[in-house]
Amino acid sequence: MISKRIINRSRANFSIIWLPLITIVLFAGCTENGQPLEVNDETISNEEQVTDWLAYGRTHSEKRFGPQDDINVNNVQDLKVDWYMDLPGDVGLVSTPLVVDGIMYFTGTMNIVRAVNAVTGEFIWSFDPEVGKSIRGKKQAGFVHNRGLSFYKGKVFGATWDGRLFALDANSGEKLWMVQTFDPERALYITGAPKAFKDKVLIGNGGTENGPSRGFVTAYHADTGEEAWKFYIVPGNPAEGFESEAMKMAAETWKGEWWKHGGGGNAWHGFTYDPDFDVLYIGTGNGSPWNQKIRSPGGGDNLFLCSIVALDPDTGEYKWHYQTTPGESWDFNSTMDIVLADLVIEGEEIKAILHAPKNGFFYVINRANGQLISAEPFVETSWATSIDLETGRPVETENIRYENGPVYITPGANGAHVWQAMSYNPTTGLTYIPALHEGFVYTDAGIDLEEWRSVEFVGGTGVWLYPPEKQPRDYMASLIAWDPVHQKEVWSVPQETFWNGGTLTTAGNLVFQGRSDGMLLAYNAESGEVVWEYNAGLGISAPPITYKINGRQYISVLVGWGGIYAGVGGQDAYDMGWAYGVHSRRLITFSLEGEADMPPLPEPYFPQPLAVHEFEVDQNLVAKGANQYYTRACNRCHGSGGISGGMAPDLRASAICIDKEAFTKIVKEGSRVDRGMPHYKDINEEEISGLMHFIRNCANAGLASD
Ligand code: CA
Repeated sequence: MISKRIINRSRANFSIIWLPLITIVLFAGCTENGQPLEVNDETISNEEQVTDWLAYGRTHSEKRFGPQDDINVNNVQDLKVDWYMDLPGDVGLVSTPLVVDGIMYFTGTMNIVRAVNAVTGEFIWSFDPEVGKSIRGKKQAGFVHNRGLSFYKGKVFGATWDGRLFALDANSGEKLWMVQTFDPERALYITGAPKAFKDKVLIGNGGTENGPSRGFVTAYHADTGEEAWKFYIVPGNPAEGFESEAMKMAAETWKGEWWKHGGGGNAWHGFTYDPDFDVLYIGTGNGSPWNQKIRSPGGGDNLFLCSIVALDPDTGEYKWHYQTTPGESWDFNSTMDIVLADLVIEGEEIKAILHAPKNGFFYVINRANGQLISAEPFVETSWATSIDLETGRPVETENIRYENGPVYITPGANGAHVWQAMSYNPTTGLTYIPALHEGFVYTDAGIDLEEWRSVEFVGGTGVWLYPPEKQPRDYMASLIAWDPVHQKEVWSVPQETFWNGGTLTTAGNLVFQGRSDGMLLAYNAESGEVVWEYNAGLGISAPPITYKINGRQYISVLVGWGGIYAGVGGQDAYDMGWAYGVHSRRLITFSLEGEADMPPLPEPYFPQPLAVHEFEVDQNLVAKGANQYYTRACNRCHGSGGISGGMAPDLRASAICIDKEAFTKIVKEGSRVDRGMPHYKDINEEEISGLMHFIRNCANAGLASD
């Protein structure tokens, strides 16, 4: 069947027009024996079922492995669009849809949740948490994008940029409960998917770089939204007493007055529940600030930064941890996927964790005891030569904490692997990693290490980064097939494009990945040979999923260039041609039988700076404006140097930016808060003028370079 839906943001419209479709939900929402499927820990742990995609990484193991082989290496050439949905009001789409009992649930821009028929693409319901209303009048840090949802016992769980966690009735989309998970006056945000397990739902937050942040995760009762437990990731001020023995232990690895800087560790992505051992793993973030000389002068491991921490899922009590990056100083989060796999290593069956964090090493950890089994670099790692298997610690190279001046470090702060999902195929025994090859020069020259303070909503890292003269490779990204047993690369595909999407692998001997240039590709999972490709007409940042209904296997992906690089990337992101408002976002679903006739999207588009000769640029105001532009994080969506990668309008091309009245309405009075543009009530007239002069200066630079 073919379906095309134009979606706008008006929820009121939907509830009237689409109410009759709820009957379809009830019809579709049944298993083969007519009973609704109960999604609980047992069903989420079932690796064999082929119909659904029940959790962020498909099952509790987070493998992103589809056991279906209807679509396989021999027939994938026939894969065609089955149905699609246009989402023209959305911006960056990075989420993993869920499929439960014939219904697909996914999260879009500004945390809007939608449910559609997974066979036809017909719209069923949407829920708008009204993020614009919530952030109005407040200082804000955050993003319009979100990575996904959780499903448990008839409820859909989502979380918002401004820190709310909510439960919806999966049938109707009605809100059942909603709680605020952090003080909304703090410079924190949520872009991640909540994790539901054992009648609870867990959420963390991001914001390590936005102020003096102390990371924590909180579990809530899935039924009521009542708080069940909270786990702090780094210790607070000892004078106030430690919350747990774990914090007391962690405090011994910190020096100075670390609590004044928050410490960091914010867990914003990787959460895995392990039913084999009844343990919850959280992946923790980097330090606040990055520079350890400020954060913990005199060193120390700084637990539990950049670690996998195993917790009791019922109480949140600490069980064990493995720290990938002691004394973190480079933004080397360990918040990336935590994948559960059963491996045979030297004849021994091991229940393992697979983890490929930003620092560039691939870790295999024994889930029975938290012991490191092996670790090898999957990209160039200039900060450490190897990991000592006796101690589990990295063998560090010289001057990596920039003690003796500037130092080139690879991977850099963007990491070797970020939130774009890796997948593990138990048939090939390979992990498929969307990897980045990039380094930076780090230095803290000129920074007063004793006086440096991170200010809430201004933030900072306590270190300067510069691009190096030469990057580690002449390409910036690759798809790597990694053998975790022998810790070696089996094949890899160099990629010219940076910031590609996550991966899906299937029993059809396939790996699927979308690229930032808009290509969706299928590879032979054993050899890396390209066996199918499709031009989606817009950069893909989200990972594909698969499911099977009425004997037909589907591959589905959100097409919607997004994430932080699409925002801050500047010229390189601009050069992709995915300008703001030009290319409608889409949800595309493929099958071998697909017959949908889909109109193409516009060609890549490059907004041209306006030439405004009568606007005389004042360099004093430009300097003031540049300061405003970066400290108020305008660059996160409008791009470095005022060059937009497509997450927000290119200000150099905007007539509003030369009209002070119109500009003030947006920046100070918040006339576009509903579209995700924060407002800054405290900004003064000179600062507004400064921003306008800075933008004109960027425009003139762009015009001069043409
Ligand atoms: Ca970070």
